[in-house]
Amino acid sequence: IKQILLASRPQGLPDDHTFNTVKSSLREPQPGEVLVKPLYFSVDPYMRGRMNDAKSYIPPFQVGEPIEGAGVGEVITSRDDQFKTGDLVMATGARPFLPWATAAIFPGTHLRKIDNSIPPTYYLGLLGVPGLTAYFGLVDIGKPKAGETVVVSGAAGAVGIIVGQIAKIMGCRAVGIAGGAEKVKLLTDTFHFDAAIDYKDNHNLDAAIAAVCPNGIDIYFDNVGGEISDAVMKHLNFFARVPLCGQIALYNVTEVPIGPRIQPFMVTRSILMQGFTIGNYSARFGEGVKQLSEWIKAGQIKYTETVVEGFDQLPAALLGLFSGKNSGKMVVKV
Ligand code: NDP
Repeated sequence: IKQILLASRPQGLPDDHTFNTVKSSLREPQPGEVLVKPLYFSVDPYMRGRMNDAKSYIPPFQVGEPIEGAGVGEVITSRDDQFKTGDLVMATGARPFLPWATAAIFPGTHLRKIDNSIPPTYYLGLLGVPGLTAYFGLVDIGKPKAGETVVVSGAAGAVGIIVGQIAKIMGCRAVGIAGGAEKVKLLTDTFHFDAAIDYKDNHNLDAAIAAVCPNGIDIYFDNVGGEISDAVMKHLNFFARVPLCGQIALYNVTEVPIGPRIQPFMVTRSILMQGFTIGNYSARFGEGVKQLSEWIKAGQIKYTETVVEGFDQLPAALLGLFSGKNSGKMVVKV
């Protein structure tokens, strides 16, 4: 089998020195164990944080050990009665990850079967962490009301594209910020955002936001942080809510830049800003999956993904997130 290990902890953007592909052999599964071949891996921005040796809500990757992430696999051999050859599975429990390997052995207790009537990548996107993050972040923290203006950054990515669509379902005006003309067109034409801004082609983001948000902003769903968020904040209305979902613009910086001091007008405008990780909502995942499934069935939420082919492409696909190579969910087909 092939495995991709963390070779060294990156400073700034990861590169070729960060990863090491090795070949090894796999023992036979023992009673209670299951041999799984990954079909799809999810690559996600938070994985960059796991490359640092830092205390966080999730333990760091270890140097010399395989990178791991969410994925869907197929059972090859099972010595656990709960599973049979051909079942589609995901990892579950405290470590819901598949190692970056072309095959791996799991205790059956660390696996769960998934429904194969749904496209397997839905479990990594729409009905997985990104979909749930969009749903709980917007609905629970953003508390959208009909007629309000919702701005989402990282709008053409896995989470952002769902945030905008839920905002529309809730009767809000949805405005996306994303990089590139193609993404802007995708957001407005295919996903029916009311407006979208190409931050890479807008030297005056402030004016661009003012132009498409004439009534200000009631909810800012922040996926990126940095200068984009600095520009958005000025346009927040009284009692605006800011679900802080991610700060991808800062994941590779070696020195954290200081932005404008926004606290004074957060006080005077009574703005609520709340960070969250999706794990906070684990007890309510069933509710989220049910609601998202209903919207999908009703045709109210559409989906797109970028599928990169080949196990060896995992590092490139992960790095591609930091230069916007994806529209919708980025997945790797093994
Ligand atoms: P995406 O599918 O959105 O991929 C990342 C996107 O970020 C890229 O496509 C790129 O789009 C954009 N991006 C990359 N670098 C920058 C930059 N410097 N400035 C602005 N935009 C940038 O990823 P996800 O949807 O999976 O995640 C989106 C955010 O949500 C991330 O910050 C992630 O960490 C966070 N997240 C948080 C969770 C939580 O529990 N709180 C759970 C899941 C995700 P573009 O072409 O527009 O630049």
